[in-house]
Amino acid sequence: MADKSFNAFEMAQTQFDKVADMIGLDQATRDLLRNPIREFHFSIPVRMDDGSVKVFRGFRSQHNDARGPSKGGIRFHPQETIDTVRALSMWMTWKTAVADLPLGGGKGGVICDPHNLSLREQELICRGWVRQVYKNIGPESDVPAPDVMTNAQHMLWMLDEYEVITGKKQPGLITGKPVGMGGSLGRTEATGYGVIFTVREALKHLDMKPENTVASVQGFGNVAQYAIDLYTQMGGKVICVSSWDQNDQTSYAFKRESGIDLQELRDITDRFGGIDKEKAKEKGYEVLPGDEWLSQDVDILLPCALENQITAENVEKISRRVKLIGEGANGPTTPEADKVLERRGIFVIPDFLANAGGVTCSYFEQVQSNMNFYWSREEVLDKLDQKMTSAFWSVTNLSDKRKLYMRDAAYVIAIERVAQACHDRGWV
Ligand code: NAD
Repeated sequence: MADKSFNAFEMAQTQFDKVADMIGLDQATRDLLRNPIREFHFSIPVRMDDGSVKVFRGFRSQHNDARGPSKGGIRFHPQETIDTVRALSMWMTWKTAVADLPLGGGKGGVICDPHNLSLREQELICRGWVRQVYKNIGPESDVPAPDVMTNAQHMLWMLDEYEVITGKKQPGLITGKPVGMGGSLGRTEATGYGVIFTVREALKHLDMKPENTVASVQGFGNVAQYAIDLYTQMGGKVICVSSWDQNDQTSYAFKRESGIDLQELRDITDRFGGIDKEKAKEKGYEVLPGDEWLSQDVDILLPCALENQITAENVEKISRRVKLIGEGANGPTTPEADKVLERRGIFVIPDFLANAGGVTCSYFEQVQSNMNFYWSREEVLDKLDQKMTSAFWSVTNLSDKRKLYMRDAAYVIAIERVAQACHDRGWV
């Protein structure tokens, strides 16, 4: 989305093709898994606050559901495209498979910019989205969730619309709901914490102690903030974060050598994760161009904003000190940049492993909603830690055993599990 020439779906297919070759996947399974099994494109007419009607484009892609109901977020973004949605749905298939959840992969989106929409207009988009696809989603077929620029309120509007249409309470339709309205404790922090559970294990593997490491983070939204929270609780120090500035239409990096203060920055951050640069300056932060987060002299990089951020053009800017990259965002590294990271021996925790905490906790939410019985935060985070740790070591052990780059090892596990399910069902 950041760059018009970048196509996330082509990137997802390139990654898939490489591993399909590596494991000698048969042609029919390749043909099935290279594309979403089904997708929906639709229009959502909305009566705007000024009385005019505006038509928004909406999408839902169900990439594969051989292992269980499709699962994946709904993103609101002005540069949303069907190819981004396709790519994200494919990555969800690999993510649920690598985390060994009984789910498939889906994703949805609406081309819109919530910055310029009232809450009422956003509610109508949410309700309109459900009216277009309610026949094709459901607790037993496809379970949506929040993504960039959507939140618990959007999910509740969508659930409400679905329940009105179907005439029954079905909190298992959607995840990321508010706590007390079918949401799970621990869901808000799950993705960021999940990233750090895998970073913690990776540091053990690299024989490094968290308290001796320094990190730089791209993004200051949900994933980044909770990743920073747990990483600093473990003793790590974050010296730089970057975020998008809506007024200036560019990103800035906020640096403080002595370490950033999470709460201090949260207090000057808007609900979209944009940090106020004037207030940051007053608090002693250096305000640098947005891409400076990448070239910091640190041990760990945590890209937690958007796709297509570590590319052939900027990968060489990564400091020689960097030993570990934990991909909180989906698709932050291009295949060209991957080659450089692999050659340099940087340990990469690939996106669909590192950020699987979100969908894992969404799965827990779905289980709790379907049972109508809810767990404590400790129980949720404990189960999350177990799942993430176990997924991390399956990938790392395979990577060690077969001398595979971490991303390839994660893909091998995921693709083999999904292919097996398709074969066992007799689809291919
Ligand atoms: P968010 O909307 O809460 O935050 C996004 C952050 O990125 C904001 O701080 C924004 O200012 C920043 N940003 C946007 N463009 C930027 C740029 N060019 N440079 C620097 N910063 C920029 O979103 P989120 O929920 O934190 O999601 C972040 C990423 O993680 C996305 O790729 C998303 O798909 C992925 N992800 C999220 C979850 C989840 O549970 N929220 C789960 C899995 C994956």
